[in-house]
Amino acid sequence: MVLEKLGSALKKGITKISNAIFIDKKLIDEIIKELQRALIEADVNVELVFQLSQKIKKLALDEKIKGIDKKEQLIKLIHDEIENLLGKGKELKLQKNTKILFLGLYGSGKTTTISKLGFYYSKRGRKVALLGLDTQRPAAMDQLEQMAKKAKVPVFIDKKEKSPEKIIKKYKKELDKYDLILVDTAGRDGLNKELTKEIKSIEKEIKPDYRILVMPADIGQAAKTQAQEFQKALNIDGVIITRMDGTAKAGGALTACAETNSPVFFIGVGEKVHEIETFDPSSFISRLLGMGDLNALLEKVKSATTEKQQKRIESRLKKGKFTLLDLYSQLESMNQLGSMDKILGMVPGLGNATKKIPKAQLEKQEQKMKHWKYAINSMTEQEIENPDILEKQTPRISRIAKGSGTTTSEIRELLKQYKLLKEMLGMQNQIASSDGKIDQKMLQKMAKKFRGKGFKL
Ligand code: GDP
Ligand code: MG
Repeated sequence: MVLEKLGSALKKGITKISNAIFIDKKLIDEIIKELQRALIEADVNVELVFQLSQKIKKLALDEKIKGIDKKEQLIKLIHDEIENLLGKGKELKLQKNTKILFLGLYGSGKTTTISKLGFYYSKRGRKVALLGLDTQRPAAMDQLEQMAKKAKVPVFIDKKEKSPEKIIKKYKKELDKYDLILVDTAGRDGLNKELTKEIKSIEKEIKPDYRILVMPADIGQAAKTQAQEFQKALNIDGVIITRMDGTAKAGGALTACAETNSPVFFIGVGEKVHEIETFDPSSFISRLLGMGDLNALLEKVKSATTEKQQKRIESRLKKGKFTLLDLYSQLESMNQLGSMDKILGMVPGLGNATKKIPKAQLEKQEQKMKHWKYAINSMTEQEIENPDILEKQTPRISRIAKGSGTTTSEIRELLKQYKLLKEMLGMQNQIASSDGKIDQKMLQKMAKKFRGKGFKL
């Protein structure tokens, strides 16, 4: 399928974000790298790719947006930006006796597209006729005739007449009986004076409702210059991109059209008469992602974490079950920069006990947290859920250290802190539940005790 690599990079990135415990620089760099590779492979302009990367980075590193909000906003940003990059689709508004003029260089796919559209619209109940005005190439009329036959639509041609205007005049009356008239014109190697003059003169005679430029996707980013030239000279309403099948450059052609604000009416996806599709970036992306719409996706992200997770932590604490993941969900909801004193501050009654902590020490602690994040990301689900299994398992700890670029002693310390915190939270829970109130003095005593035990703050 067209742009499938871009689709899979997009899907991977979005899944990574929605599944991540932490949205950190390492993860974002990874996602950006994959997207960049896919976009550039799809021939998207490097400058546009760079701009997209910057936007993602800026949002990812914005410390004001936290936790689940950040996840949602990132996914939406990536989705929307790619959608914008691909540009806008547009529908043809057909009235009675709508005339569409198709322009384009040699071999761009005009004749094929016209037959496809004849087929497309006649299937949808329109009374369609094709009009052949390519008097340049000797076989052009024959080609249109044959293709019209395949599409089962009437065709008006003149194999001898060399003046397009005269052909128009000849069939004018008859053409008035049709709903939709698709007009095939001659191309050239480039948009030269001769072609411009010819089109303008045809235009004057036909008075088309739409002027559509046909471009093949394999011209890639060159579609930008071509669209601009045709816009300037002939005031086109939009484009149809052909040969979207089997070219790696489809992304280049689409994004180039978006850059020049040229709406895409249709895309051609094969040589056969039915191989044409409307182009709607948002459903196109949904299809690429193999998911429903964005809202459904965001809903999924939301339900995976946030309140549910908070509730889970609470109930786990009540049961005395507290995993590494719980610890880190708490940290994450404070945008990862949460220092230990904030965690302790969340424990009712402990806030005061932990007020005066030197800044340098906090920073050191935060640095440590970062490493712990990497370590947790390298653990299996079982290990995260039940860290006790790591306790005497040197090979497991070494594996995690290796996988996360941390040291075994850092991991041991994480386990130790986890254990202490769990114990402390468990005790706090007990204290709170004995008579429903929290004994402040008791807690302070407890905090002291834990600090003495090596809970470094
Ligand atoms: P024209 O000179 O602009 O009229 O271009 P043609 O309609 O004659 O098409 C040129 C070539 O492109 C032909 O070989 C077509 O079969 C081919 N072509 C047109 N559209 C598509 C498409 O969407 N996919 C593929 N694979 N080939 C196409
Ligand atoms: Mg042709």
